[in-house]
Formats: sequence, structure tokens, C-alpha cells
Amino acid sequence: MASWMLIIPATVLLLWSSQFRSPCFAWAQHRVGLELELHMPLSNVEGAAKMLAKRSDLYLAKRCDGDRRKVYRPDGGISPYKDGEDRVCTRYWVVQHDSSLDDIKNMTSLELSSRAKAFQDLEGDIDAVSDALCDLDARITKSCGFHVHMDMTELSKAKMKHVTLVNFARLWVRLEPLLLAVVPPSRRDNQYCKQVAPFLRGKDLWRLWYGHEYFMARDVKELLNPDGKYHTVNFPDEDRLYHTLEVRLHSGTVEAWKIKRWVKLCLQLLEVCKAPWDEEMRWLVRRGSMLHLLTLCVDEEVSAHIFRRAFHFIRTYPHVKLPDAVSWLERASQHGYPQSGKWQEFDCTGCGERFPSDIPLSEATALCWSCLHKPDGGVKLSSPEIIEKPTQGWPLNLCGCCGKIFPSKRPYLGRRLPTCRTCSGPGAISCS
Ligand SMILES: [Zn+2]
Ligand SMILES: [Zn+2]
Repeated sequence: MASWMLIIPATVLLLWSSQFRSPCFAWAQHRVGLELELHMPLSNVEGAAKMLAKRSDLYLAKRCDGDRRKVYRPDGGISPYKDGEDRVCTRYWVVQHDSSLDDIKNMTSLELSSRAKAFQDLEGDIDAVSDALCDLDARITKSCGFHVHMDMTELSKAKMKHVTLVNFARLWVRLEPLLLAVVPPSRRDNQYCKQVAPFLRGKDLWRLWYGHEYFMARDVKELLNPDGKYHTVNFPDEDRLYHTLEVRLHSGTVEAWKIKRWVKLCLQLLEVCKAPWDEEMRWLVRRGSMLHLLTLCVDEEVSAHIFRRAFHFIRTYPHVKLPDAVSWLERASQHGYPQSGKWQEFDCTGCGERFPSDIPLSEATALCWSCLHKPDGGVKLSSPEIIEKPTQGWPLNLCGCCGKIFPSKRPYLGRRLPTCRTCSGPGAISCS
């Protein structure tokens, strides 16, 4: 047998499996812990722990007195376990009663915490727990939340915690209105996850943007979490032994696809914050296009998820107004977003470059946006002197005419919004 015959199946298998697991990106190696709040149709926590361990094939710990734990095994047995120094549960998922949730008749309210692990090592657990919870008919109510804890201890050791926290605060303040649109209205006005951005006054914002990261890191908690931990994002408490940055915005869910994409979003945003920003990045976060910022920070799967969820909630709650900063989403939602999350791609018959399109085109006559608008050639939009940070996937734009979100080959950084193909191509109807 020729050697290439062996290589091909291995390559195919590798590509195939990478569709289902996050490859070794830096963000996927960051340690996270998840908290899921939910109700189960079982009479007590012990019963729930036993059933969940069996169905998910995972070990589940339940707190007893002090540092003692009971570990429920997949084989149905129970082992004693003493927590000792390991107060962060790296070994087991933990299940406990949650008294903060609504009381529902014949249901037990639970908080299920994952073991703290690198995201890429936690994905299998998330699938298993989600399947088990769906099988066991777990329920979600408006009082349930889903929290993501991102570990800060490694960054602290590397002396990068202050930069990361302050940058994350800056990024969150800018993106919070968009992220609010991605969750149901019950999370947007909620005493357990209060918004952060509206708290900030001019002087505080000035400090956040221009203050030195080293000094700001001490104040960021006070600035963004004036009401303690019940905010969309909860900055670490310096007094606590374990430092995590907690995102509390998401509504309760037991569905693996929602859980994983939200965790990816949090980690990809965090990844951008792990180094000091240059002037270009600072400007972009503060004043640049939200769409451009998003495609710089998160990959295509995550940005597609953000828009599809936002459009879903706009359709489901047509009378609920969005924050002013993202009111453009309402118009954009009328045009939708590709179901697959992927844009169609074509080879330009003018310049030969690959480009994305929001509408179907004929392969034989496909022209990229630049060639379409400058058919006489000289299509280089960006000059070599301009350094453009590579986006993750095709850059996104908002059509200045019809309000649709559409992709482009290169980011448009001009002041005027570009127009989509439908509004500016041959035979376009002017939106005026
Ligand atoms: Zn072209
Ligand atoms: Zn348009």
C-alpha cells in the first residue's frame, strides 16, 4: 500500500475530530470553573448526586460538615473524601443545594460546579453532564444563572494579573450592551447580575481608560462592582485565597452548545487582555466599530453565536428595547445571519482573491467588493504601510443603507459605513 494512503485517513480523522473539540489555542488552555444553577425532579441533593454520577459517568462530590465530602461514584457507590488543602475542587464536580433559587414543588434546587480545568479538558465533562441533565429532566427557571469563573492565579504568578484585569474591565464596559442582547431580558435587569457600564461616571471612565494598569488593578473591583459580587462581571476579591474573574451574565442552561460557546466567548475576550495594548488597540476598544472589535477578539463560531442569539431574543421579545448602543441590532435582525455561521466564499474574477459574500453569486462573474466598486483595477484597499491586526474570520460590517451585517475581505476603517451588495451592487435599489 502506498504511504499516502495511510496519511490521508489520519489527516481526515484529525480534521474531523477537530470539528468537535477545541484545538490547542491559548484560550482553550486557560483554567475555568463553571457553575450551573438548576432544578431537578428529585426529592433531595443526595438523590440528584447519585443519579447524575451514574448517568454522566463522572464523580460528584457533596459537601458534608467542615472539610468532609461524600463522593458519588458512577458505579452507584459512595466514598468519603477529605478536602484538605485542595479547596478548589480540581478533582470532582460538586453538587449542593441552592437556596437562592425559586422554590418549585417536587423539585430540588441545585448548584452544580465543574472541576476547575483547562477548557479543552473540560469539554468532555460538559457534554456528559449536559446529556445526563437533559435525560434526568432538569429544569431552568428565570432565577437560575450560569456563571463562568476564569482562573487568575497563573496570571498572578506571571505578574500579568493587573494588566489583564484592567484590560478586561475596559473591554467589558465597551461590549456589555452587546452581550446584554445575547441573553434573555430577565438577565438584563436582574439584581443578581447588575450591569456594570451604567455605574461608571465620566471621572471613573477617564480613570479606567487612562489610569496606569498597575494602580487601576486595585480600584477596578471597587469601580465596577460597587454592589459586591452581584454584577454581570465580578472582579476578584483580594482577600480571597483563590482569584477568579467571574462572568455572571448568562441565564441558566443545561445545553452543552450554549455552555461551550459562552465559555469560549469569555476566554477569547480574556485572551486579548493578557498583554498591554498598543495605541491602535486602545483606540479600537474605546471608540472603534463594535463589529470590528468583535472579529478581532473572538472567532467566527463565537461571533455567529452572538448574533444568532441576539436575533433570537429580538424576535422572541419584540417589545423589549435594547440598550441604545446596540439598537442597530434590531434592523440587522430583520436580515438574519447565516444558519451555519459561515459566509459563502468565492474567488474574485477580477483580482483573483478569495472573498466572502452575504448573498449567493455566480461563480463565473463573482467580483469582490473592491473590484465591484473600482472595476478599472487598482483595487488595493489597504496600503502596505498600514498594519492591520488580523481578524478571526472575515471582518464584519454594518450596511449604512439597509442595516444588514455583512462580511468583507478587509476591515473597513473609514468614517462612513460601507454598503452591502444588495444596496450597492448592479441593479441595487437605493435606500436613500
Ligand atoms: Zn477582486
Ligand atoms: Zn444594505
